[in-house]
Amino acid sequence: MKLLTAIVPCFNEQENVFDFYDEFVKNEAFLKSHDCDFEIIFVDDGSKDDTVARVKELKTKDSRVRLISFSRNFGKESAMYAGLSASKGDFVAVMDCDLQDPPALLPEMFKAVTEEGYDSVATRRVDRKGEPPIRSFFARQFYKLINRMSNTEIVDGARDYRLMTRQFVDAILSMEEYNRFSKGIFGWVGFKNKWLEFENVERKKGETKWSFWKLFVYALDGIMAFSTAPLAMASFIGVFFCIVAFLFIVIIMVRQLTVGDPNNTVGWASMVCIILFVSGVQLFCVGIVGQYLSKTYLEVKKRPLYIVKEEL
Ligand code: UDP
Ligand code: MG
Repeated sequence: MKLLTAIVPCFNEQENVFDFYDEFVKNEAFLKSHDCDFEIIFVDDGSKDDTVARVKELKTKDSRVRLISFSRNFGKESAMYAGLSASKGDFVAVMDCDLQDPPALLPEMFKAVTEEGYDSVATRRVDRKGEPPIRSFFARQFYKLINRMSNTEIVDGARDYRLMTRQFVDAILSMEEYNRFSKGIFGWVGFKNKWLEFENVERKKGETKWSFWKLFVYALDGIMAFSTAPLAMASFIGVFFCIVAFLFIVIIMVRQLTVGDPNNTVGWASMVCIILFVSGVQLFCVGIVGQYLSKTYLEVKKRPLYIVKEEL
């Protein structure tokens, strides 16, 4: 008998826990017929509502339900890592609690892994129906930018919903970095991967935990985790300004030695502009270096990715 583990990160998802369970167990017959059992690990990411109580209630009815509860909100990335570490399955699926990752796709994903020889099956939504247009616009620009800057392919519209083999999961667990960006990590480990496409499903109950600002910061973290291009850019800007400065020095010296400068005092305004601009560029570049330094600082501290308060 094989085992499939479903990992469900939950942050204030009290309205969705039961619905998710009901929807998920519809796959039971299919899994049984393929000689596969399942366990569901709900990872409570420091919810302030009744999520934990509801998962416990489920557990009394179905012993295949497991709970890992964090001491506070550590973020979805940490929740996924905790779930992966605790998973026992030969196959592991990561899925959202809000049913935006349709459990009905599992049979198809399962077949791709068991019969078609794939190591992982990832999902991708082909549209962004129901999302604010501004958010979609920035999301698209982000994917364009990060793919230009990073060697790891990061697919537009890719969800974290994925079915993986044990080998794939172990590869992901071996990446213990503190600044986790799963979209990049999944791509980085390699293996044979199949993409399943589906139409965007809107969240039915509760609301998204991602504000625009949270997504923006996450996007920057993603770029810094999978590309050092901004650091190189800082050097290029530096070299560019050195060349410009050198040309100016030559031009000014030649002019001074030949015709001279009859209006020595006129250049004040342009001088101030140049000084302000160049110091702005310098601070910007120092800022980029600072960002990488701060990431390195957090990485070096080796703090745990999460702290478990309760495990059932
Ligand atoms: N989530 C989490 N920790 C967080 C934020 C979100 O565990 O800090 C979970 C959330 O409960 C859900 C999944 O991650 O199961 C995706 O979150 P959400 O649906 O809010 O994001 P969206 O689908 O809007 O991108
Ligand atoms: Mg969602």
